[in-house]
Amino acid sequence: MSQVEIKAYGAKANDADLEQLAIQRREVLPNDVKIDILYCGVCHSDIHQVRNDWGNSKYPVVPGHEIIGRVVEAGDSVSKFKEGDLVGVGCMVDSCQECDSCKEGLEQYCENGMVGTYNGKDEHLGGHTFGGYSESVVVREEFVLKVPENIDAKGAAPLLCAGITTWSPLRHWKVKEGDKVGVIGLGGLGHMGVKFAAALGAKVVMITTSPDKSEDAKKLGAHEVLISKDKEQMKAHAASFDFLLNTVPVKHDLNPYLNLLKRDATMVLVGAIEPLEEMHGGLLIGKRRTVAGSVIGGIPETQEMLDFCGEHNIVSDIEMIDMQNINKAFERVTKSDVKYRFVIDMKSLKN
Ligand code: NAP
Ligand code: ZN
Repeated sequence: MSQVEIKAYGAKANDADLEQLAIQRREVLPNDVKIDILYCGVCHSDIHQVRNDWGNSKYPVVPGHEIIGRVVEAGDSVSKFKEGDLVGVGCMVDSCQECDSCKEGLEQYCENGMVGTYNGKDEHLGGHTFGGYSESVVVREEFVLKVPENIDAKGAAPLLCAGITTWSPLRHWKVKEGDKVGVIGLGGLGHMGVKFAAALGAKVVMITTSPDKSEDAKKLGAHEVLISKDKEQMKAHAASFDFLLNTVPVKHDLNPYLNLLKRDATMVLVGAIEPLEEMHGGLLIGKRRTVAGSVIGGIPETQEMLDFCGEHNIVSDIEMIDMQNINKAFERVTKSDVKYRFVIDMKSLKN
């Protein structure tokens, strides 16, 4: 298959810095859209993959699954997109389209395995897929999203992962007006969780380990801030939450958070994709509580979220960086020091 060489940024090993690399993109097939990448968000998952935290990384890793760009070419059978359209690509670029999950628009749970935007299996060129820390990407049209033109395109990039990953559980567990919702961890995902829960009319409590983020949490839409290290404060909120969205990115103790849930309420984990510390069964049994998990969201739901953001003028709060500063940005995300998502200006890669 014919291919084109483009510039990208990636890591050649789990302990290596990211550096400029040359990668191949396939030429546009009839069902494909070619996107010139304008902006790409920096997700904590990018760091987990580069560092091989989940043990499944393939090198070089070219991360990036919060992609915003303009269509520069559409294949002959593409019907939804044309040159010049503002579009997005999230964490998936393909799935079987035939299993029950795919038919229900839940491609992220494809029973034959969805193809990740990076580190997935590249059926076309062989090897693995490369993400959005690059000049351009070629994606089948089913996995391309329309981005409302009225919202800031830079701030829209993180919607493609941080946005949908928090939107999907809020919708699936039917968070509604008046519910008391706790968002645990004020990072990229958490700040979108706060914005969405507030927009859905919930009473939002930011649950954070960082007291200095309190003011920001309120600006983002939280009605209250709960410092999780403060036992007295945690006690005061015991058994009072209708829903908890847990974005903590590493192994941690769930028990103090479980104790915050009302009878029959659910805590959804989206962050720690790894073995957890021991959970106390009594905390579940005594109040019929549930712990659940959720991964990103399907394509129809991602479009729904983007349209909602268009109507309500919601985007992420971001810090723009040049591609060349990515290693410093990784360090800062690891230290929970980002307000609240880095977005790469991909023009910098063209220099
Ligand atoms: P992030 O920007 O680093 O935010 C995580 C936040 O969690 C931090 O800002 C910090 O907030 C809090 N935190 C960090 N370490 C903690 C600890 N040991 N105990 C308690 N709180 C801690 O990360 P992100 O990009 O939002 O991603 C969060 C996680 O979700 C990552 O693991 C990522 O891989 C995963 N993820 C999952 C999905 C999915 O589909 N399920 C999608 C995208 C990302 P405070 O300072 O407020 O405490
Ligand atoms: Zn992500």
